[in-house]
Amino acid sequence: MSGVREPAAQEQRSKTFYLETFGCQMNVHDSEKVVGTLVQQGYRQVETVEQADLILYNTCSIRDKAEQKVFHRLADYKKLQSQGKKFGVLGCVAQQEGEKIFERAPHVSLVCGSASYRNLPQMLVQLENASGPAERAIPRAAGEVAALRDDAFVEKASDSGLRTRDLIRITGLDDRQTDKCFETEFTARTNPHRGYITIIEGCDKFCAYCIVPFTRGKERSRTSDSVLLEARQMGDLGYTEIQLLGQNVNSYKDPAGKRSFAELLAAVGEVPGIRRVRFTTSHPRDFGRDIVDAIDAVPSLCDHVHLPVQSGSTRLLDAMQRLYTREQYLERIGWIKSAKRGIAITTDVIVGFPGETESEFEQTLTLLEQVGYDGVFSFKYSPRPNTPAVTLDDAIPDQEKAYRLEVLMAKQRELQIIRNKRYLGMILEVMIEGRNEARQQWIGRTSQNKTLNFLASPQAKLEPGSYVSVLVTGSFPNSLVGECCISEQMELSVHPSSMIAP
Ligand code: SAM
Ligand code: SF4
Repeated sequence: MSGVREPAAQEQRSKTFYLETFGCQMNVHDSEKVVGTLVQQGYRQVETVEQADLILYNTCSIRDKAEQKVFHRLADYKKLQSQGKKFGVLGCVAQQEGEKIFERAPHVSLVCGSASYRNLPQMLVQLENASGPAERAIPRAAGEVAALRDDAFVEKASDSGLRTRDLIRITGLDDRQTDKCFETEFTARTNPHRGYITIIEGCDKFCAYCIVPFTRGKERSRTSDSVLLEARQMGDLGYTEIQLLGQNVNSYKDPAGKRSFAELLAAVGEVPGIRRVRFTTSHPRDFGRDIVDAIDAVPSLCDHVHLPVQSGSTRLLDAMQRLYTREQYLERIGWIKSAKRGIAITTDVIVGFPGETESEFEQTLTLLEQVGYDGVFSFKYSPRPNTPAVTLDDAIPDQEKAYRLEVLMAKQRELQIIRNKRYLGMILEVMIEGRNEARQQWIGRTSQNKTLNFLASPQAKLEPGSYVSVLVTGSFPNSLVGECCISEQMELSVHPSSMIAP
């Protein structure tokens, strides 16, 4: 759970680590669990690479650009290896590149994919035993490090330009077929009000463009009892918002067979103290009407569904192996729109998938209009190693991909301007996330997952994590502005996810 970081005890710890995270919310939450595990193993987290004994990167390989970032970081800090610092690469790039990382960056000692995080404590012990500073000063006899081969692959490197006796190789790469999730009671959550819970790991869908099934392993769910236990513990600790996570969160299958995804969602929404529940990402094929029914029935389930479409063309969806047609996708949108509450809808789109014609791209633009999304995350198709799409020969030139991306973003911006105007004059409840002193504004988030910046009287006792009602007075493409109109004490009777016309 949280509360792992106890400052006084932490200060006394001599082993230090620095962790930088790239990528999605799953990675952010994995890092919270990795931090908890390290603290539990006697490490202290520090803010800079210079202060750290162990430098870790939790990486993302969803697109080529994300992947390159970690190699730039490793190159930037390579010289620190001479000070005895150790480097580890975790996450998707670790799993994808595996031992090739040792060749490209010989100063790396640990390479571990997310499916092996359960084994981190043993790997850390091996890292420490194999490479303490004293040991570094004394040349080791051949075979000493190799004796540590039991659970991890440890060997000496050659041809690296560095003294081979200083090189340690520890890997956690062989667990992609595991049925186990990375469950730990030592999660170092950074936000005291809102927290993630991963309910399902991995992915079995194998979309033609996507590297995730190769890096995160097969789909596996936690039991709903274990998820609910964690949710209740979070409620007891004062968290008010929970976000359920999974690459395809709604493909969730309770191994104990007790609850469907919609039932689990409803049960988390009824946990005492929890005022908001979000879930991401939903796969359209597994999106059932029962999810909308749950949102209608349980007030704490937020008014927001993220439902990635990727393309508006059925032919392209088929080529992408997305397992649904445009019409089936729109049917699900129809269910969401028929809910009693106004549910905000967001999506992901890929432009320039191999073979995407202009008219197929046009179909994506018409879909944006037809659905009326509240937000779109759009990406240029990025060829990924080992995926089926990488072998397709009708690639779209990068310039054309960039052009389509620009057109799509401009279109969506126009639509969002119109969409956000519909909130004008409404009172929305926000959770306060922070304050922008320069603008004298509080920063809030609505149930619909919109940023709502607002003014409040200096007398109002506001603080991050509290909930207030805000009258929307202005709108922009990506945010709303307003004025705090009801204090938290006064608005307790207001429905947590309400949108009230004044
Ligand atoms: N499981 C979710 C789904 O099926 O919609 C998506 C998870 S994926 C980590 C997040 C997003 O990254 C995808 O929805 C897709 O838009 C984008 N993405 C994945 N692979 C990509 C690639 N090769 N090139 C560009 N974007 C990609
Ligand atoms: Fe990737 Fe498709 Fe799995 Fe989503 S469903 S993680 S896009 S393979």
